[in-house]
Amino acid sequence: MSENNRAGIIQVFTGDGKGKTTAALGQVIRAAGHGLRPYVIFFMKGDYPYGEFNALRHYNIDVSVFGIPCLADPSHPKPEEIEQARLALQEARQAIDSRRYDLIVLDEINVAAAFGLIELDDLVDLLNRKPPEMDLILTGRYAAPPVLAKADLVTEMRCVKHPFDRGLLARKGIEY
Ligand code: ATP
Ligand code: MG
Repeated sequence: MSENNRAGIIQVFTGDGKGKTTAALGQVIRAAGHGLRPYVIFFMKGDYPYGEFNALRHYNIDVSVFGIPCLADPSHPKPEEIEQARLALQEARQAIDSRRYDLIVLDEINVAAAFGLIELDDLVDLLNRKPPEMDLILTGRYAAPPVLAKADLVTEMRCVKHPFDRGLLARKGIEY
């Protein structure tokens, strides 16, 4: 990690409005711009070719992507989906314990816990492992109360309007 006198915090971006992942990525850009070392771990990514994967790699920001190429069904999680979430969790644990990063984003980890792909206890364990200097950002709807309790900053994106509601499809470069 870059400096040993930083006070790292846990940030949570949750809620049903747009902006959770993009807010987390904004923090990554800001951190990288000051020479801090960020790492983004995507949980539960489906088959969209998200622009951020290319952009992060282009700027030599470490990124790992987990998930299966189809929409998650919360009542019927697929074995491959659970396995991918387990691998993502393992990667997150190793990255936190390695102390190589100043900021780690665990994108959609709240949803992985809410859908039962990972155990909530394992998620809370990650938060407990955070070195004091490291920043952690968790995104996704349905952040669980124990996660909210451990977080230092919680922002809830609330959907007031979204063009999907009037039939506009996801646009390359904006939604993915
Ligand atoms: P973004 O990645 O744009 O910051 P998000 O991380 O807040 O959005 P997710 O819950 O991860 O949103 O949703 C996944 C996809 O659905 C993204 O393409 C996102 O832009 C889009 N989306 C976000 N909020 C809404 C909404 N209220 N209605 C419809 N689609 C949404
Ligand atoms: Mg998101």
